[in-house]
Amino acid sequence: MVERPKALLAQIGGQPVLILPEGTVRTTGKDAIKNNIAACKAVQETIRTTLGPRGMDKMLVDSLGDITITNDGVTILEEMEIEHPAAKMMVEIAKTVNQEVGDGTTSSVVLAAELLRKAEELLDQNIHPTIITKGYKIALNLALQKLDELKKKIDINDTETLKKIVITSLSGKGATSADPKILDHIANIVIEAVRTVAREENGKLIIDREDIKREKKTGGSIYDTELVKGIVIDKEVVHPQMPKVVKNAKIALLNVGLEVHKPETDAEIRITKPEELKAFLEEEEKMLKEMVEKIARTGANVVFCQKGIDDLPQHFLAKKGILAARRLKSSDMEKLAKATGARIITNLDDLTEKDLGYAEIVEEKRVGGENMIFVRGCKNPKSVTILVRGGSEHVVDELDRSVEDGIGALTSALAEQAVVYGGGAIEMALATYIRKQATKYSGREQLAILAFADALEVIPRILAENAGMDPVETILKLRAAHEKGEYSKGVDVYAMDVGDMEKVGVYDPYKVKKQVLTAAVEAAEMILRIDDIIAAGKSVKEEKEKPEETTPEED
Ligand code: ADP
Ligand code: MG
Repeated sequence: MVERPKALLAQIGGQPVLILPEGTVRTTGKDAIKNNIAACKAVQETIRTTLGPRGMDKMLVDSLGDITITNDGVTILEEMEIEHPAAKMMVEIAKTVNQEVGDGTTSSVVLAAELLRKAEELLDQNIHPTIITKGYKIALNLALQKLDELKKKIDINDTETLKKIVITSLSGKGATSADPKILDHIANIVIEAVRTVAREENGKLIIDREDIKREKKTGGSIYDTELVKGIVIDKEVVHPQMPKVVKNAKIALLNVGLEVHKPETDAEIRITKPEELKAFLEEEEKMLKEMVEKIARTGANVVFCQKGIDDLPQHFLAKKGILAARRLKSSDMEKLAKATGARIITNLDDLTEKDLGYAEIVEEKRVGGENMIFVRGCKNPKSVTILVRGGSEHVVDELDRSVEDGIGALTSALAEQAVVYGGGAIEMALATYIRKQATKYSGREQLAILAFADALEVIPRILAENAGMDPVETILKLRAAHEKGEYSKGVDVYAMDVGDMEKVGVYDPYKVKKQVLTAAVEAAEMILRIDDIIAAGKSVKEEKEKPEETTPEED
């Protein structure tokens, strides 16, 4: 029940006792669970239409009027600025899944909410949340066992399969969905990028997604998206007299400004005579010149600076033939350090030749009407940048998110070197298996296990729905096929029928599916365990503006 007194009361020996501050709203028991479930279902309603290759996009307009057009689950949820605490937990799963595997965000939220929807039906039959969560745990373990059994091995040299994995993950994203040629182009880039950064350690493939830098530049078309073996920086050479190309680059990375620090606000320099001013300016110039001399003495011919570079040092650097760029992002500095082997310096006195990094060539090039700096032939050949291009900012942003998903999917697939059939096929296979196993468990638990199996079917159901197919008929057909052991049968959204995912070539990474299942169950469990919501009242000021509500208990 929902209690709304101004202060919370407990009855001790007939005497009401205040235990919570005024304005607190408390919801307990089934009402609390139901309230949370309702919020999660609302989140599911919002993003279900984006799932799969035939999913629609969302246009999000923020309070400043900035527009984001996207199909990406985690982006939608982040931009929505959700307030309900339970709904926020849905956002958290999407974020975690995104961090862990870089794909499968929509699926995880849709599945978590469906598990809760099914749990609500069980709650209505007076089954206790503890039983439900226990049943879900058992079902999850069954699902993970079967998932492991059904996974297919893949090889990093099997380009055809890798392409299918990337395309499965890219398709349906606004920017790429239109054209198979675009999908192919982007998939090739993603595959080459991932192959470049992959290394083997004790027979295991290690791929760090961070090693693949993405840089966006509006202009040109999606086809101009390219893989650069090296680091691309969205900055220009700071002074026109500096060289635009430096071969055999010896690179200094500075996290210290080449500028004279302005005096603090309360400091004061009193200059009374013109000579004093002259002396002061000369002193300043000397200091700046000395800074540049220090850099030049190490043999550096390229300077990347995280802070500012004043006009004078720019001029001195140019005279020495040093190429310099300023105000780099700290993430770029770190990537450059890793790629070129340079050490980031915070005090110029520390800079020695040993701290310099190396690249075969550093050059400024025009991309989409603006200058960018390319650092190629780095000491560490495993550093790459995907230069994401497209006709408008929205296209570039969405393509960038798709590329991120593609990289995530491929990395996850290669991390375990295994995939499963997508298009809802794997979910159907797991549901079929779980239903068969459920008979081994007792009454109430069995109901929860069966509810889990039903919940899994939400993925093929929504894929069908979004493709404009009849969801009920599709699920029935799929159930029949999987009953017969045809576990590659899924939703062929283009043929608008049940189809063989092996033939259509729809593969999802094993690791992504594993993560989606575990994350969804964890979230559902966490929400099911909450039976008491104690929300602090709004801040005093807001409360005052509201008309006074008086309740009889209050005296
Ligand atoms: P998520 O954020 O969960 O990755 P997506 O919108 O990328 O959401 O949709 C992923 C789902 O779409 C997966 O279940 C995947 O198997 C399915 N899918 C992708 N391509 C196809 C296809 N060509 N046919 C059927 N299903 C597909
Ligand atoms: Mg995806």
